[in-house]
Amino acid sequence: MAIVPIYEFPHEVLRKKARKVKKLDDSIHRIADDLIDTMQNAQGVGLAANQIGILKRIIAIQLPEEDPRIYINPEIIAKEGEREVPEACLSVPGYTGIITRSIWVKAKAWDREWKDVRIRADGLLAQALEHEIDHLNGILYMDHLSEHQKLQKVEPETNLEEIQEED
Ligand SMILES: [Zn+2]
Repeated sequence: MAIVPIYEFPHEVLRKKARKVKKLDDSIHRIADDLIDTMQNAQGVGLAANQIGILKRIIAIQLPEEDPRIYINPEIIAKEGEREVPEACLSVPGYTGIITRSIWVKAKAWDREWKDVRIRADGLLAQALEHEIDHLNGILYMDHLSEHQKLQKVEPETNLEEIQEED
C-alpha cells in the first residue's frame, strides 16, 4: 500500500481509455490499495486508475463517513435526468466548474472479491460514479462544461475535495 503521485492535466494518460481487467490477482489488489491510500491522502471523494498512471478499469470512491469502495470494470447501464452541480478533480487542482450530471444512475461492476455488484445511486455517489467512469474513458469533467460556463479558480484551501457536495 502506498501513496503515489496523481497525474495532472494536461498529462496524456488522462486522455487515454483504460483497458478492462480480465482477472483478479495481486497486482489488481495493489492498484486498488494505492488508489484508496492516494485518494484518502488527497482528501478526495474518488480516484480512477488513469490518475495514477495505470490504464486499467479500476476506480475508488469514498463518500463522507463511509468506507472506501473499489469498483472494477464499472459501467453506467442506465441514467436519468439532468442537474447542474459544482465539480472539481484531483487532476485539475485549483479549479472548479458547474457541469451537468445525471439525477440518478445505475451501474454494474465487480468488487474486490470479483463479485458482480449493481449500484443504483443518486446525489454525490451518482456524480462520483459518472466522474470516475469518465476518467476511464479519457474524459475530464470540464469536457461537460456548457458553452457559457468556465472553470473558476479556487483558493487552494477550499479545493480539498475532488467533488464538492451539492448544497
Ligand atoms: Zn477526477
